[in-house]
Parts: sequence; structure tokens; C-alpha cells
Amino acid sequence: MISIALSKGRILDETLPLLEAAGIVASENPDTSRKLIITTSRAGVRLIIVRATDVPTYVQYGAADLGIAGSDILVEHGGIGLYQPLDLKIARCRLMVAVRKGFDYERAVRQGARLRVATKYLQAAREHFAAKGVHVDLIKLYGSMELAPLTGLADAIVDLVSTGNTLKANALVAAEEIAQISARLIVNQAAYKLKRSAVQPLLDALTRAVK
Ligand code: AMP
Repeated sequence: MISIALSKGRILDETLPLLEAAGIVASENPDTSRKLIITTSRAGVRLIIVRATDVPTYVQYGAADLGIAGSDILVEHGGIGLYQPLDLKIARCRLMVAVRKGFDYERAVRQGARLRVATKYLQAAREHFAAKGVHVDLIKLYGSMELAPLTGLADAIVDLVSTGNTLKANALVAAEEIAQISARLIVNQAAYKLKRSAVQPLLDALTRAVK
């Protein structure tokens, strides 16, 4: 049996058509079903539905053989025990620094002031500002990061931006791009070796579907 870990939401909407193109059709729509384990049209392949941030953990420990996770989540996880053989080129967005409209980010950074940055993406933010030599106090948030600069909790946020509508609606502007983000196929390293005969055809089918 091969288990593929997926999360609900944005990635799932674009993942299901890709899986279908690779010959894996879910027996129920994971978005509407309450089931957490879903069989597929492909014998010996099932989907397990977990939180986006838990996808790499399930695959790392071998509770799932494969998974689909955003590169933002993989940076935070660290990628231990995982192969990342395929960029699925879906759920694309950008990880950005954003500030209140009118806040002079360039000046604040140039002056070497300690910047307060609120984010869910501590690892990516830490690496980004360290590489720039900017001192930051990072504040961990779990959601609604856009509120932080508006309420004085932070000077800046690090968050995913897709259309830019959320920033605009909250009088924020993008100040800097940290990374281009897309969903990646991840594979448990042991499963890749020990279940090669089952895993490789799935990898090949997904590679063709991406193309
Ligand atoms: P947008 O208004 O289209 O720029 O989307 C921004 C909001 O959607 C923010 O709250 C982001 O955290 C979230 N978001 C954007 N793209 C993604 C993605 N690929 N995966 C998960 N969340 C996203």
C-alpha cells in the first residue's frame, strides 16, 4: 500500500486534477468528505488528509510514503528524511515581507534598527534577515498576520502573497520578495528505496502530468 499525504484547501484544489492526470482518482472529494483516509481508483494507493504543516512530518516518519507540500512548509520543516524529486508547479505564490502603507522599509533596514517582524514562517524569515544582516525580533503568529502591523504588534510581516488582494484590503504593501513558492512532491527516503517498484511508476506518472 502506498499512502499519499495531502492537505485540504488551496493545494488540494490544484492537486486533485494533477493526480487524476496521473491516473489516481479519489473515491470521494477530500474537501467535502469527513474521512481522513480516502481510497483511489489506483489499486494499492490511498490518500491521507492532514494539516498542511503536518504533511512533511507524516512523510518523514514513513506514516505516508509520498506527500504534497508547499515549499514554504518544507523550509520550516527542514526536509529531514525527505526527498523532493518534483516541483509540481501548482499553488504558486510568493513569500514576501510586507509593511503598512507609508512605512519606509528601506530606511528602517538601512538604519540598522531592530525590526519587529510577525510571521508563521520563522525559519524562512530568520534566514532571509540574517543573510541581509538585518537585526529582527521575530514574533510567531499562526494566522491573520496582516493585523500585526495595523495594531502595532510588528513593523513588518512575512507572509504568502498570491494576488495581493489581502495586502491591499488591509492597507499593506509588499516590501521585498523572499522566495517563489510552489507545491513539491516529497518522498520518504526509506520508502523510495524499499518500495521502489510501487513508488517509481507514481513518480513517472506525476512527472508526465506536470509536463
Ligand atoms: P492573496 O490575497 O491572493 O494575495 O492571498 C493572500 C492570503 O492567502 C494570505 O493570507 C496568504 O497566507 C494566503 N495564501 C496565498 N497563497 C497561498 C498558498 N499558495 N498556500 C497557502 N496560503 C496562501
